[in-house]
Amino acid sequence: MSILEDYDPEVYKTIRHEEQRLHDNIELIASENYASKAVLKALGSVLNNKYAEGYPHKRYYGGCEAMDEIEELATKRARELFKADHANVQPHSGAQANMSAFFALCKPGDKIMGMSLAQGGHLTHGSPVNFSGQLYNFIPYSVNRDSEQLDYDEIERIAKANKPKVILAGATAYSRIIDFQRFAKIAESVGAMLMVDMAHIAGIVAAGLHPSPVPHAAVVTSTTHKTLRGPRSGFILCKSNYASAIDKAVFPGIQGGPLMHAIAARAVAYGEAMKPDFIDYQSKVLKNAVTLADSLQKEGLRIVSGGTDNHMMLVDLTKSGVTGDAAEKALDKVGITTNKNAIPFDPQPPTITSGIRLGTPAVTSRGFGSQEMKQIATLIVRVLTNVGDSKIYDEVKQQVCDITGRFPVPGITRYNNQQPLL
Ligand SMILES: *Cc1c(COP(=O)(O)O)cnc(C)c1O
Repeated sequence: MSILEDYDPEVYKTIRHEEQRLHDNIELIASENYASKAVLKALGSVLNNKYAEGYPHKRYYGGCEAMDEIEELATKRARELFKADHANVQPHSGAQANMSAFFALCKPGDKIMGMSLAQGGHLTHGSPVNFSGQLYNFIPYSVNRDSEQLDYDEIERIAKANKPKVILAGATAYSRIIDFQRFAKIAESVGAMLMVDMAHIAGIVAAGLHPSPVPHAAVVTSTTHKTLRGPRSGFILCKSNYASAIDKAVFPGIQGGPLMHAIAARAVAYGEAMKPDFIDYQSKVLKNAVTLADSLQKEGLRIVSGGTDNHMMLVDLTKSGVTGDAAEKALDKVGITTNKNAIPFDPQPPTITSGIRLGTPAVTSRGFGSQEMKQIATLIVRVLTNVGDSKIYDEVKQQVCDITGRFPVPGITRYNNQQPLL
């Protein structure tokens, strides 16, 4: 960083500002994580400079020898890690991966069944303000009102009634195991293709701690920056008979030049995920999620569906009388970062909500364990039962600093010997 410090102090200062925030706060946003120094090093490399439109050995630019090597390495690692026939590592993000998959599998106007956005589906699963909802005819499925879990019989009924071209499984706010095998059976019974968006759970799948969608789905899309702890980017896995359609959909279908520095960083992240200690990391993520959910329940908060099987949970705040929005803002004041999130059948609008979503990937990367999870649950409840009380906020903020001071953030230097910026 010191080169930037001399060269452009204004930009340097903003990065330091963010590093300070990362260090001082407890990061509970379920979709965030800390990439390693090695991933950040690849992202900040000269590979940024190169145009490499096309695919290895079939480029539209000269000088792509190293680009071919790095892309081949990344796709090989992605295939090995997830035991997939084919991998495309060019999508710039999860949204681009989904757009490419839709383009490869269907035509505008086709029916796609996806999880209702209000209940955990993603923006790119048919939101009217997103291309997906504008180009395709999305048919939503919901969770069961009592169990708050996916209701496969109901999904089957909707599939039979609507005969979609594609059934899309995967979520952005769902804390239970997804039964991809059952989804595949339903898709087969109505002649639909199964697409799985594993953006959130990719790291858990890579570690073998969540059933893999790869054997069951025609196409699997993902991000690399959530549980997988890599660079901000997307990728697609598919069966070999979809490989050519997927590759064409990504380029020239929706993208131009691939971000080669980000592809190198994906290769680093896939390599990290192949190491034995990655399994240990993911099992700690899951264990921390269970401890956090249990501790919050003991403190009187309701967890949607009664618990979690993955890295996240939805907390229902209805009884506490605090909205999701108010909770997010109050927790922000003490350095606990979360996001407001609709709970199933939420009476509040999406800008307010009755819940918050909490996840353990980032804090686990930092080394937090059971002890810290229990302490965080107590701190969250203390804030939510004292909203607006600045004396309580100060007290909690101090405890947050005591915890974060003990755990360095992967990828950045500690600031023990440096002056705080702000
Ligand atoms: C995060 C997410 C995406 C989108 O990823 P971006 O990289 O933000 O575009 C897509 N699908 C699901 C299920 C997600 O959780």
